[in-house]
Amino acid sequence: MKTIDRQAVDTSNVIRDVTPNRPSEGGKSLFNRTNENIDWAWWSWNPVTGCLNNCPYCYARGIATRFGGSAGFVPAFHPERLFAPINTPVPKSVSPWSRSVFVCSMADLFGDWVPQEWIDAVLERVRAAQQWTFIFLTKNPKRLPTITWPDNAWVGATVDVQARVQATEEALAAVRACVRFVSCEPLQERVVFTRPELLDWLIVGAKSIGGRKVQPEWAWVETLTSQARSVGAGVYMKPNLVVEPHLDGRLTQLPRSISTTVTIAS
Ligand code: SF4
Repeated sequence: MKTIDRQAVDTSNVIRDVTPNRPSEGGKSLFNRTNENIDWAWWSWNPVTGCLNNCPYCYARGIATRFGGSAGFVPAFHPERLFAPINTPVPKSVSPWSRSVFVCSMADLFGDWVPQEWIDAVLERVRAAQQWTFIFLTKNPKRLPTITWPDNAWVGATVDVQARVQATEEALAAVRACVRFVSCEPLQERVVFTRPELLDWLIVGAKSIGGRKVQPEWAWVETLTSQARSVGAGVYMKPNLVVEPHLDGRLTQLPRSISTTVTIAS
């Protein structure tokens, strides 16, 4: 897999305007409803868009460039979207995922190129919106411990290959959050954690490329799920994962620290 020399990342095109808008200018901003690819959160919120990680399987780049050309994926801050948490009505659904918001599904909010002011502005709105649960996911976990996380934040890192385990475990060990998790999607090889007790939640999924899905070996999935079970962490299998018949459906459990027993019908 291609690795990035972060010192060499060209950030000259990052759109750095962090001028806050007046409340009236953000009056129409709402969360977006997610599709079936992100069924562990009903909502997505993208106050920051664009990413320089250059993952070969990135779906967000394709969406962004389809609508905005190559400039559509340049990291940018959208201050008017900061009003979405207060503008979006809270659903009446009893589903535990109905109040869950995936933050920056079209970006990596904690990429090295992201100005701290952008992160601070997002977290200020998260702290003020306790009616929602905000789910953060990054491929640059070393920034996670630098943040004072509010109680309504779930904090995770993507671990698609073994090489990401050490940095992720070091970061999660230092993170103070009510939920710490990893997303092993797309799971590209056998991944083994050395400190699974750090995990409250494990997400595991296949690789989606357009309409095509590349399934991980089932033994890799079992390695992860048995590690998660051994420490009581919840397991969430993404819809793109073809589940072995003996499992009787995919697991869609909540994180350990939220509930160790609830399983939601898939
Ligand atoms: S980190 Fe996410 S948004 Fe960024 S390139 Fe990779 S898949 Fe795309």
